[in-house]
Amino acid sequence: MKLAVLKENNDPRVALTPDAVGKLSDLGFDILLEHDAGAEAFFPDDAYEGAKLMDRQALLQEAELVLSIHPLDDEALEKLTEGTVVIAQFQPFNDESVVDKLRRMKLRALSLDMIPRTTLAQAMDILSSMASIAGYKAVLEAAHLLPRYFPMMITAAGSIRPAKVLVLGAGVAGLQAIATARRLGAQVEAFDTRSAAKEEVQSLGAKFVEVEGAKDDSEAGGYAVEQSEDFLKRQRAEVQARAVKSDIIITTAQVRGRKAPMLVPASTVEQMKPGSVIVDLASSTGGNCELSEDNKTVQQHGVYIIGNSNLSALMPQDASQLYSNNVVNFLKLIAEEGQLKLDLDNEIISGAYITAEPAAATEE
Ligand code: NAD
Repeated sequence: MKLAVLKENNDPRVALTPDAVGKLSDLGFDILLEHDAGAEAFFPDDAYEGAKLMDRQALLQEAELVLSIHPLDDEALEKLTEGTVVIAQFQPFNDESVVDKLRRMKLRALSLDMIPRTTLAQAMDILSSMASIAGYKAVLEAAHLLPRYFPMMITAAGSIRPAKVLVLGAGVAGLQAIATARRLGAQVEAFDTRSAAKEEVQSLGAKFVEVEGAKDDSEAGGYAVEQSEDFLKRQRAEVQARAVKSDIIITTAQVRGRKAPMLVPASTVEQMKPGSVIVDLASSTGGNCELSEDNKTVQQHGVYIIGNSNLSALMPQDASQLYSNNVVNFLKLIAEEGQLKLDLDNEIISGAYITAEPAAATEE
């Protein structure tokens, strides 16, 4: 089967790294690579030994399976042959119409962001790989803008107290942000609505701040559930009390398929210390901070606010490497001798196979 890897639009990452070519050849795939697909992630064409380098148009015509990070645009999708398999992050929980569109185009789509967050699927979990990088990078970006030290400093010229970091949402990104801020010497506090987060936060040496009355999330597959307005109001008050003492706030709170909860209103930003930094990782789904703007860094009331839900793209080499490893693990599950076996009885495959008709044939 011919597996094509395209150069991403407006993103330096690449979906497949050179070390994967041999592994996928062993699985029976022929790898077709668009020229310079990995160049911006520092994987030059000549590192992809065994792959066939092609231009985009020819590659779209020949491909039987197309692998990417972002879904291809409609113009590219229309060039694919009927029945082609497309693997990317289609995010159907944000916009269900994408499934109908792909079905109309007679494409078979596997959406990596729909793989269940189970122990078995951990090695294929691109969301965790990218969120972990985003959490790490969020702290470094904040440190870069902060006009103050992170660690406590005792110098001949006087002492500097450690920075205070507040992390809202302690999922994969939030936990990595906590760990990174702790390593740099900051004092860290964190909030999450999921009760399971408490122990994880504390194990990283941070303080867990609790707001009573969060809705039960035990049936939500590990994801958070939407909270009542009353809970969010009490939470915002608690955030405000801590925010005014913080130097940095990293917000990562998301509820899948919904607008992100607004946790840092303008009135809180107004009361923060000048020079403080907010990094809003939920900016693409509405933002956790009222004043954040997606894909922009703004300054409001003397506070820098970075709105960026795609921070993993700022570390393209390792981000590509981890994405590629996740994809190889997924392909090992669904491929045999270069052919796909999309067994809908397997919950990982049925989760990802978003264009499968309910009673679709399971053998490809
Ligand atoms: P996410 O990006 O969907 O959300 C980030 C965090 O925001 C979550 O921890 C969520 O609880 C929190 N949140 C939502 N509303 C909030 C609010 N009002 N205030 C504060 N926090 C709020 O989360 P994620 O990082 O993708 O992780 C989702 C879940 O999946 C977690 O439980 C995680 O442990 C789990 N997970 C499991 C596996 C696995 O077992 N393979 C792998 C990765 C993640």
